[in-house]
Amino acid sequence: MDFIKILLHDTTWSFAIEIVIRCIVMYVLIILVLRFSGKRGVRQLSIFEIAIILSLGSAAGDPMFYDDVPLIHAVIVFAVILSLYRLTTYLMMKSDAIENILEGKPMYIVKNGLLIVEDIKQEKYSYDEFFAEMRQKKIEHLGQVKVALLETDGNLSVIPFSKENIKWGLPIFPDNYKQAEEHIIDHHYSCMLCGHTQLLNNLSHNCPRCDCTHWAKSSLKCENN
Ligand SMILES: [Zn+2]
Repeated sequence: MDFIKILLHDTTWSFAIEIVIRCIVMYVLIILVLRFSGKRGVRQLSIFEIAIILSLGSAAGDPMFYDDVPLIHAVIVFAVILSLYRLTTYLMMKSDAIENILEGKPMYIVKNGLLIVEDIKQEKYSYDEFFAEMRQKKIEHLGQVKVALLETDGNLSVIPFSKENIKWGLPIFPDNYKQAEEHIIDHHYSCMLCGHTQLLNNLSHNCPRCDCTHWAKSSLKCENN
């Protein structure tokens, strides 16, 4: 076993430089794809950390069992990817414009119990993804939500109303988030698209906020607080 061979195999300077260029191209490509997929980070990971994991994953794995892939290739890949990561975080720290382009801004999903429809459409998320997140935070309906903010890392921050400020709101559990079939006098109804909530004379009314005609029976009860 020759350690120099394991480390270098027949790597030439020109191929070492080629690896550097390949890394830069792939890193930029991965960031672009992640950024324009419309999704933000996955849970705690920003798109940059995902890019690093994707880039390094294969670079780390191949030299482990391909006898003609020398370690030096992985070392170069690691060095280049980490430098690019440091460079992007540095640029984002220095420039708000670059940060906004690469990472997006925190975005309001719910304000005052109402869904911010335009922003949600723009982010290509489905309602159910937000509803699921809110359900996990013990929210039953939007009348309980003062603010829900989608952070740049993909996490949803939810600020609930204090108990005495809870209003009628759009239910977010599947059993209740459905179009009302019969009209009940003196009951609140919530627009299924934007969360606007009011008393209704009939169910063919258009939502004054978004013009939608799908109404769900509003919820008020809240067993958790
Ligand atoms: Zn509406």
